[in-house]
This record gives sequence, structure tokens and C-alpha cells, in this order.
Amino acid sequence: MSDLRFKSVETASCRKPVKVDVPKERVEKYYAKQVFNRQKMFEYLPKDTYTALVDAIDNKKPLSLKLADSVAEGMKRWAIENGARHYTHWFHPLTDGTAEKHDAFIEHDGKGGVVENFSGKLLVQQEPDASSFPNGGIRNTFEARGYSAWDISSPAFIIDGTLCIPTIFISYTGESLDYKTPLLKALNAVDKAAARVARYFDPEVKHVSSYLGWEQEYFLVDEALYAARPDLVMTGRTLMGHESAKNQQLEDHYFGAIPARVEAFMLDLEIECHKLGIPAKTRHNEVAPNQFELAPIFEEANLANDHNLLLMSLMAEVARRHNFRVLLHEKPFAGINGSGKHNNWSLGTDRGKLLFAPGKTPEENLQFIAFVANVMAAVNKHNALMKATIISATNQHRLGANEAPPAIISMFLGSQLNKILDEIENTSAEDIILEGKNKMKLEISQIPEIKIDNTDRNRTSPFAFTGNRFEYRAVGSSANCAAALIALNAAVADQLNYFADAVDAAMAKGVDRNQAILEETRKQIRESRRIQFDGNGYSEEWKEEAAKRGLDTETSAPLMYDAYQRPETVEMFARTGVFTKKELEARNEVKWEMYSKKIQIEARVLGDLAINHVIPAATRYQSLLLDNVYKIKQLFKGDKADKIARQDMALIEQIADNMASIKSNVELMINARRKANHLSDERSKAIAYHDDVFPLMEKIRKSIDDLELMVDNEIWPLPKYRELLFIR
Ligand code: ADP
Ligand code: MG
Repeated sequence: MSDLRFKSVETASCRKPVKVDVPKERVEKYYAKQVFNRQKMFEYLPKDTYTALVDAIDNKKPLSLKLADSVAEGMKRWAIENGARHYTHWFHPLTDGTAEKHDAFIEHDGKGGVVENFSGKLLVQQEPDASSFPNGGIRNTFEARGYSAWDISSPAFIIDGTLCIPTIFISYTGESLDYKTPLLKALNAVDKAAARVARYFDPEVKHVSSYLGWEQEYFLVDEALYAARPDLVMTGRTLMGHESAKNQQLEDHYFGAIPARVEAFMLDLEIECHKLGIPAKTRHNEVAPNQFELAPIFEEANLANDHNLLLMSLMAEVARRHNFRVLLHEKPFAGINGSGKHNNWSLGTDRGKLLFAPGKTPEENLQFIAFVANVMAAVNKHNALMKATIISATNQHRLGANEAPPAIISMFLGSQLNKILDEIENTSAEDIILEGKNKMKLEISQIPEIKIDNTDRNRTSPFAFTGNRFEYRAVGSSANCAAALIALNAAVADQLNYFADAVDAAMAKGVDRNQAILEETRKQIRESRRIQFDGNGYSEEWKEEAAKRGLDTETSAPLMYDAYQRPETVEMFARTGVFTKKELEARNEVKWEMYSKKIQIEARVLGDLAINHVIPAATRYQSLLLDNVYKIKQLFKGDKADKIARQDMALIEQIADNMASIKSNVELMINARRKANHLSDERSKAIAYHDDVFPLMEKIRKSIDDLELMVDNEIWPLPKYRELLFIR
């Protein structure tokens, strides 16, 4: 077995960069080549079909079947011309990742042959046999019907000869079984609510879009080393492994020179992204060794999220071409930084105004402050829910660890914005002189010209204002961003409606509009201040302080999921039309089930590695040592023999102790698992996995990692951190 390890290390260290097939033409030429975007629509659809489709997309109108037929015909022609043989409805089930079922375009031609066909009906709706997708009990397996339906707002694309049609996935009875359906509902809710508030300032506003710019962090590992680590293969993270002597303490990796092999991978990935219309822009080394990041230019949130999901599968594919495996797990290696996926989020009107960007006039700035205050209020009211959206069996390792956002949701605003909020909060109503837009003088004394210094950053905050957007940093690297975006957009939509109701009511009583907005903004600031924290989010004092402020400090994922079922959450999602109570309950079942399953798999793999890999290796080494002691005792006599053999004896004892503790803890872990598996309700099962199984895994790991330092390097069965982590 040690042979395998050494061969792997050897293979890994002598690999050369793989040559990338770089297109001859410039990027403008091949960008979105594989996407049925508006330009292709224009080219391949009859003129009236094109106009009707664009109108449906822009104004969120339903599509008639007749129109769909015409779109399908053009789309098929384009797809076939570009080498597609199959099509699939591409959707985002409640497991992380994406799902697809491919069908060939062929149909019988009635003469014993086939024709390639694709109708509007097939484009618009399908019924995948979806019984094996998690549904939290909404569908029984015998009622396996689930519908996937075309999301016209996200363009179809071709990958590996398959035309992929982005779709939502819902049950026969209409409940969402995916991430996209509620995301679209939340985006719709925030569009309406934010446009309502934005119209106070600009009556011409019709729509508000939510934007997302994700920053995808990931690790790369050589495939030979990966293959020699069953834990990486099965769970995506190392379940054992002592920290290497050098890891990230020199901070020499961040923004450092990118190793040639990795650079080839990045280039290849970037080209693939561009062909698929993913605007990949930034690439760099991250803090930890072998850790990297890719960020695109931000896009409308639904499209951006589709692109992120697409990227995650592209990464896996392209990594293989370069003899790498990509690790999207939030914490593949203990003791060094984990991976996140910062979600840069903003709102902008169809008149081109970013609503979290300060403006030039006091009135624009009043709008800016009002929107910021409402985000504060939403995140404050739903701070437990916000955390529930990002916590998972994998992300739990990252949150609260010393490098990552803590398991407390707070907001960083920066000193300038903070000062302005202070002024607004502390000025009494009488001091405010406000006049309407048409008057000559508009004096909003509390709202001066605002210039936000972009360098005022706080890296320890899970939710930070960064100049013209908020950056939600607690999102995990393997997650579907939709989970966070659904709650964030819905909560902000609900809050903006509440705000607008109050402003409307005041205006109805004759209060000047700006005055009413300022009053209500002040109220929101006052009531939401506890969510704001500009200090060091990693510090121990903050944990205490946050608890005093009544912010949620729970760290157990299964218990966090309860936040989805609190009355205020259920009501908020009902008001915004994003989730019904039944959907929330069903989705929580899935979350708990996924949690238990992930820990269960890890526990099984760890048990196997401990008993069948580590213990035999340690026993072999122990017996070598025993042999040595025996021989010493044969050669030397009495005190002398004892003296010479003393260190080996001590080591033998330490090895024995660790092996004993591994064996007994594995046994306890198996029993704890058995007990957990007998629990019939998913919530209790997940809690048992969290409380009873997981801590034993940590103990087992500790003993294994101790053994790694004792046992002969040549006998150790698995590639070590220092071997896994430094791509040359
Ligand atoms: P950082 O310093 O955090 O790495 P970057 O400038 O690299 O910041 O931007 C990170 C991401 O934020 C990019 O995807 C970028 O397109 C996105 N972004 C920039 N402005 C906005 C915005 N207004 N709304 C949403 N995302 C944005
Ligand atoms: Mg960032």
C-alpha cells in the first residue's frame, strides 16, 4: 500500500502542464458561441417569433405553445448546426449540483427511418421520472411525476453535443422541488418591492434587477494523489492528515505566481467559460496552498447563478483534462483556509441606477441610505434564517473556524457610512428641513455628498458593504448560491414593502415624501443597529457581544434549519409568495436528510480508513519496533539494554495507546450511527449525527493524526498534506 503512495507522489511531481487548445480568434469572436442568446435568436427565429420571445423575456409574460413551437424549431436548427445530437432539460434539484436527462432529437419518420425533431412541447415542459430526487415527502415514489419547465430568462446552451435548456422543477401539485423556482419567485418579489420604493425617486422605474457576482474558491489536487485518498474520492475532504510543517503561515501563496500546470488549467477553463457566455474575468491564487479563485463580471442573479452551477461542472471536467481533481468542498484540509463563494449582491433599476451606490445629489443619497437601511433591517430581522441558508454538513467546518466568517451574521458598513447613519439616527425631526423635488432648495442636512472609500474593508465580516453592493461571504464554495439569494431577496422584498407601506401611510397624512422616507429610514436604522458590527468578527469578544445583542449564535446545522420554520420566516415567505409552509417543511426534511447522509458517509469512510489502513500500518511499525527492542535486549543486558530501548518502548506504548483509542472510538461511532439510523424523524436523526457521531470522528482523527507523526513515513498508507498540497 505504501508503494501506491510513493508512485502517486512520483507521478504527481513530474507532471508537465497540459497544452491548451487556444482558439485562433480573439475572445469577442468565440464568446457565447455555444449559447442561444439574443443574437442567435435574431438569426434563427422568424421576426415575429423573435419579437414575441424578447417581449416575453423582458416583461415576464407567458409564452404560447404556438410561439414555443416556432422557437423550438429555430433552436433545434441552431443546435444541430452546432453539433448537438441530444437535448436535455437542465435543472437544479435540492441536492447540490445540477441534473439532466438526455434525449436524442430523433423520432420515427413513419418510413422505417428517423428524423430529427424538436417541438415546442418538448422545449417548454417535460416529465422526468423524478422519484429519486429529494422532495421531502411532497411526492410519494408512486406518484413520481415532477415537471420541468423552461426558464425563458436563461438562455439554452450546448455542452458536449447536448442542447441544455435551463428549467425549473416542480411537483405535480405545483410545489417547487428545486432552487430555481423559488429564486425566480424571490427575484420577482424584490423586483416589485424595490421598484415601488425606487419610484419615490424616479417615477419612470419599471423594474429592479438583483445582481450577483460570485467569487468561486477551490482547491486543486493532482489526480494520482487524489486517487490514493479514499476520503477525498468519497467525501471531497480529507478526514485525516496532520498539518504539514509549511502551510500558509508565510502567506506566500496569495496572489503569488500561479504554477504553470495550474495556469494551463485556468486558461482552458476560462476559454470554456467564455464559449458558454460565462464572463470569467479574474483568476488568482488564494491564501492556502493549492487554493485558487475564479470570479466573473456580475450578472443578473438568475443567470449568474446558472453560470455558477455550470462553472462548477465545467471545473470538474476541465480539471480532469489537466490531471487534476477540483475540490469544491468548503474545508478539504484541516488547519488551513477553507473555500467560500462570496456573493456580491446588489439591486439596480432598469434606468441604470445601482440602488446601493451613493449618488451625486442629496436626494439620490437619501435613496441610497433608505435602501441600505432596509437591507440592514431585513438581515437583522432574519439573521438566523440568513445563517440557515448557508450552513451545511460541509460549510459547518468553515464557519466559526478562525479564518472564516463566524457563525454569527452581522453587517459591516465601514466608517463613512456608519458616520452618516449616526447623524441620521441622532438628529431630531425638527432639525430637518426638507422640500420637494421641484422646489429650488433641497436640504437634507444629514445626507451630505457621499464618497465611499472602497479600501475600507473588513475581511472578517460575513456580510459587508463594499461600495456599491453587499458581499455575502458566508456562502460555501460547494453551495448553490440560490439558497442564500432566495432568503436575502425575499427578506429584503418583504422589508421594502413594509417600508413603503409606512411611507405611503405618512404621505397620506400629508407628510412630505422625503420627510416620510427619512423618518422611516431613521426608524429602520435605530431598530437594526444590533446587526451592525465593524470590529473583528473572528474575536472571542464578538461572540459574547453578539450573544448579548440577541443575535443568533447557534452553530449546529440541524438546529439552524429550524429557522426556516419559525413563524416570522413562514410569514415572510408567504407574503412574498416565495414558499408555502408545506414547501418549507418539505425542504427542511431534505436538508436534515442530506446532513445525516453526508456525515454517515464520512463516518463510514473514516471507520474503514482507521481500521483497514491506519491500524495495520501502525501495527506493522509497532512490530518493527518490538523486533528492535527484542534484539537490543538480546545483545545488551540489564540497565544498558533498558537505556537503549527506552525510547522505542515509549513509542511502542504511544502507538498502542493511539491504536486502542482509535479502535474503541470507531466502535462507539458505529454504535452512535446505528442509534441515529434507528431514529425515524429526519430532524432527530440529523441532530444525533451532529451531536453524537461527529464528535467521535474528531477524536478518531486526532489519534490518527498523532500516529502519522510516529509511524515510519515509508509505511504510512496515505499521501500526506505536504504531498497533496504543493503543486509544483
Ligand atoms: P474583491 O475585491 O472582493 O475581489 P472584485 O472587484 O474582484 O472584488 O469583485 C468581486 C465580484 O463582485 C465580481 O464578480 C464583480 O463583478 C462583482 N461586482 C462588482 N460590482 C457589483 C455589483 N454592483 N453587484 C454585484 N456584483 C458586483
Ligand atoms: Mg470579494
